[in-house]
Amino acid sequence: MFINYQLGILIVIGGNRCEIEVEMKILFKNVKTLLYDSNYYISVRDVLIKDNIIEKIGCVEEDVDRIIDGENKLLIPGLINLHTHIYMTIFRNIADDLPFSEWLFEKILPLEDHLTEEDSYYASLLGIMEMLSTGTTCFNDMYVFTNATSKAVYESGIRAVLGRGLVGEQKYNGADRRINEVLQEMKLWEGKSPLMTFAWAPHAAYTCSQEYLRSISEFSKDKIIHTHMSESENENKDIINKYGIRPSKYYEDAGILTDRTILAHCVDLNAEDIERIKYAGSSIVSCPVSNLKLGNGIANIPKLMSEGINICLGTDGPASNNTLNMFKEIQFMSLIHKGVHKCADIVTASDTIKFATQNGAKALGFNKIGLIEEGYSADLVLLNLDEPGNQPTNNLVSALAYTMNGSQVHLTMVSGKILYDDGQFCTIDSEKVYKEIKRIIEKYKEII
Ligand SMILES: [Zn+2]
Repeated sequence: MFINYQLGILIVIGGNRCEIEVEMKILFKNVKTLLYDSNYYISVRDVLIKDNIIEKIGCVEEDVDRIIDGENKLLIPGLINLHTHIYMTIFRNIADDLPFSEWLFEKILPLEDHLTEEDSYYASLLGIMEMLSTGTTCFNDMYVFTNATSKAVYESGIRAVLGRGLVGEQKYNGADRRINEVLQEMKLWEGKSPLMTFAWAPHAAYTCSQEYLRSISEFSKDKIIHTHMSESENENKDIINKYGIRPSKYYEDAGILTDRTILAHCVDLNAEDIERIKYAGSSIVSCPVSNLKLGNGIANIPKLMSEGINICLGTDGPASNNTLNMFKEIQFMSLIHKGVHKCADIVTASDTIKFATQNGAKALGFNKIGLIEEGYSADLVLLNLDEPGNQPTNNLVSALAYTMNGSQVHLTMVSGKILYDDGQFCTIDSEKVYKEIKRIIEKYKEII
């Protein structure tokens, strides 16, 4: 069945009745709400959604199209996953317990050679399902196939910033296939949905020459630049051995260290790197689970916090995590720095929730996303508290970081539209996606 989520229609997908709310008034009634006023706090409120905006927070007595009972529920801003490779859902759990270079060059890149646009489309839909069902409403992706991920994002109604991963050696001369694909994709998709924006995504210092990066810098203008930097000590050593400078200097000289730049990982930074990032106003997205799993180390988040750098949170791809579940990431981020620095309050639950919401929105240039406030976009997640592991509700800010695991997500709304409701996906035919993934994975079983 063709689905157009931008029209207000009632559809039946896979035998499940699911309502797509468009241009409606929806009221979350008497719901525990995560609010922010220099610190996070919880208050029981009515939250009125009109069209795609949080219209009113307080006591609301007016006719609406749907009332959602907030009894034993917690309403939070949607989580923002700031670094993903969503198509990698297809490679989940097939290249584990390997060092980074072996994982990337000997396993993942050869597998990617066999990816098709259709594989990437269904893998992207699967990733979006995982994100919606674990409370993510926006993701910043670096992918391989243009159009496949864009199509999945458009059909699903999730919010995304999309960047085709770029690797290259030469200055752009009109013939670079990957850059041309990006230009075509932007022409095709930009303006089709306000929920989709496009970034320039050079892969890394070790896969892009400075000449190539300079061309990307010229193209990027006011767009986000999304890239990997200093993911491991070995990566830094290789760049220093080859060029005599650190990756941050390599990026700075090529013109891609800007206040629109999002740097994934930054596990191995020295004082000089931190100064450059701070001066440029770039954001850092930490991916603690992926960094731990690939044996790459732990970013010095407390130091970066003390320097006032905008720190965000991401899962990385599901081949190195192995989930897109931001609750897992929040928990690791909240715990590991306490252990490393032997200090229990060095990165708090509140800090990490901020990384996963407000800071992600700031990095992407979204002014009215990441908080529950009147006038903000209605990107919201409703969590179920009516289960043994979440009772009693002594401190729900702590519970978000230390108790919950994403299975509590009851409803996910993006820009005022309900996309996930009590176990049902409103815009994705989940049964078809599972079936197609099962079919596609047979091909990779023969290759591995
Ligand atoms: Zn990555």
